Amino acid sequence: MKIIMLGAPGAGKGTQAKQIAGKYEIPHISTGDIFRANIKNGTELGKKAKEYMDQGLLVPDELTCDLVMDRIQQDDCKNGFVLDGFPRTIPQAEALDAALTKIGQKMDYAIDVDVPDENIVNRMSGRRACLDCGATYHIVSLPPKTEGKCDHCGSDLVLREDDKPETVQKRLTVYHDKTQPLIDYYKNQGILKSVDGTQPMEAVFTAITDILGA
Ligand code: ADP
Ligand code: ADP
Ligand code: ZN
Repeated sequence: MKIIMLGAPGAGKGTQAKQIAGKYEIPHISTGDIFRANIKNGTELGKKAKEYMDQGLLVPDELTCDLVMDRIQQDDCKNGFVLDGFPRTIPQAEALDAALTKIGQKMDYAIDVDVPDENIVNRMSGRRACLDCGATYHIVSLPPKTEGKCDHCGSDLVLREDDKPETVQKRLTVYHDKTQPLIDYYKNQGILKSVDGTQPMEAVFTAITDILGA
């Protein structure tokens, strides 16, 4: 099963993608996590990506597409994968389609996790991230067992620099401008499914599994 998670920053794509990956035993591929790992390790890609991420801008397609195309052709993606945060532009979606067409495959579902802008700033300011293992928490709706520490690996949790309200506004503008057009793109392909992302996390996941099947 090959799935794309669509939705505004903070809509809950990552939260749901991790659960989907667990249930259907497919890899969770988050471009944001890949960039953050590169930043942490001080790679050239990380240095370039950081300049854009800190400003709430998208990393250019040239730096993004190839890395995803390489990733989805690895062995563990044979039975499918869930893409979280990619594609984010029409050219990225076209690159993905072209790469899959070449190997006789196509995406199965694009799931739009729909959350209005009003709810997003609150979600993001409460998000806490573990930069070691990629786990995500929320100070109200999904608190860690010990304040400030990751349940999985014990590392310190942080408020991401780009989750501060000034940058979130910018990211929302970029989302509406560059990423939202993908909703129509996948609607036209007949693979778009929408879920109400304002529901509690468990209810959103149930709505998704209703779409994907057991
Ligand atoms: P969120 O989960 O809050 O939407 P991500 O972790 O997916 O955030 O992405 C963080 C940042 O990484 C984005 O704001 C953007 O700068 C960069 N990024 C992630 N994925 C992409 C992509 N597919 N294309 C361009 N930039 C990306
Ligand atoms: P995205 O990957 O789309 O940027 P996340 O999955 O990281 O979004 O979720 C953003 C924040 O909102 C996190 O702190 C997460 O714990 C929280 N969150 C996710 N889904 C829900 C939900 N259905 N209700 C309330 N909070 C949520
Ligand atoms: Zn962790």
